[in-house]
Amino acid sequence: MTGTDSSNPTCSFCGIEKTPQTPLIAGNDGHICEQCVKLAYQVVSSWGRRGTQTEPELKTPLAIKEFLDQYIIGQNEAKKTLSVAVYNHYLRLKFQDKKGDATLPVGGALSDIVELEKSNIIMAGPSGTGKTLLVKTLAKIIGVPFVIGDATTLTQAGYVGEDVDSLLKRLLEAAEGDVQAAQWGIVYIDEIDKIASRGSGGANMRDVSGEGVQQALLKMVEGSEVKVSKSGRREGGEEVTLSTQNILFIVGGAFPGLTGLISKRLAPPKTGIGFSAPIETESEISNEQLLAALQPDDLLQFGLIPEFIGRFPIITFLQDLDVDSLKRILQEPRNALTKQYKQLFNFQNVDLDFTDDALTFIAKEAVKRGTGARGLRGMMESMLLSTMFDLPSRPELQRCVVEVSGEEESEQLKVREEFADGAVREEVLPTPAVVSATAAATEDKVEGKAAG
Ligand code: ADP
Repeated sequence: MTGTDSSNPTCSFCGIEKTPQTPLIAGNDGHICEQCVKLAYQVVSSWGRRGTQTEPELKTPLAIKEFLDQYIIGQNEAKKTLSVAVYNHYLRLKFQDKKGDATLPVGGALSDIVELEKSNIIMAGPSGTGKTLLVKTLAKIIGVPFVIGDATTLTQAGYVGEDVDSLLKRLLEAAEGDVQAAQWGIVYIDEIDKIASRGSGGANMRDVSGEGVQQALLKMVEGSEVKVSKSGRREGGEEVTLSTQNILFIVGGAFPGLTGLISKRLAPPKTGIGFSAPIETESEISNEQLLAALQPDDLLQFGLIPEFIGRFPIITFLQDLDVDSLKRILQEPRNALTKQYKQLFNFQNVDLDFTDDALTFIAKEAVKRGTGARGLRGMMESMLLSTMFDLPSRPELQRCVVEVSGEEESEQLKVREEFADGAVREEVLPTPAVVSATAAATEDKVEGKAAG
């Protein structure tokens, strides 16, 4: 028998002879050498890896929140809610996968909420406050495929089923065709407040029959098996079945007028008419407190059907960004805009600085125009455009400082350019630079609307 030659045994796998330098481990019917043991170990480990590869790594809510903190300024409430929700979601999946093992290592509280119900999330908050960024960053930390959809495009197409499928198709593409991974993914649907069936209050501006869309989304969110074609992977586009059972759905929307609705619920006008009553209430209760009191039922007013809302047990909100937050957004996140531009200038051996006043000026402009943080990049880009245009052809330029000039009412941004020979050139940034940024942001919005 192989490797059992009485005179000198050999490895049953590679055939190497036993020597003092190459000892063999004896088995019942054969021998194995150290090299083959190592090789076998590698092979076996790779089986193990393959088995768990698609299961997202579980990070604690604290770790998730700390990661989010590196990219998103403020919005603590939303960050906490999302961290816990996502952690719980994947925790559930993990244990569900183990055939519903009853001995969960977590307390009863989890099983109370869970009961195999998914923790889909609704995020309410004005445009440009970080909803998409939050979800994107979440997907990054959990390492699951992620896709963003826009509810208004689902409306426009009319053939809802197709669009729902296309979301899943994109998710599958994001998972590089790995069905298992796609089934663990996150789908974010933006502008969910725009697919309302006729809402009460003045919130709905367009005549959209959104209920059909909501029904279709509902089916997907509840968990269904959807046939999706893997386009371009094999000839003829191979079809696979994707279960939406374990996909985490997060929907977001601005829900304009939401705080007004909550304040009415919390403190309805006392008696009689009195225009001042609700206004008084609003000023008494801060926006933050109002949003903290947000309940799913408040969203019914936006024309979301109860069944749909019912599938989103977790609800959170994002605050409007004030000047201070916007200033922090310009400077603090890991990939903050000022850091990005500084690096870009540094590549060309030029230092770029912003005075505190300049940052305040930019943040104030963004607040004035109501574009949230979204308008910031456009403003920076147009502000620095002419400097960036000239930069490569001026090797003697050493430093650029963006600062504010003029008195309060007539404040303007300017760029001070310092050259190697000591020369200084100042250039006032034209106001249209800022205006055009706004235009870009508005265009963005208009496009979104037009699509819907
Ligand atoms: P929303 O989805 O709420 O409309 P986004 O997440 O798309 O807003 O935000 C647009 C951009 O603005 C982001 O890509 C990011 O650069 C910036 N931004 C918005 N909110 C924040 C925030 N809280 N912290 C850091 N950056 C933010």
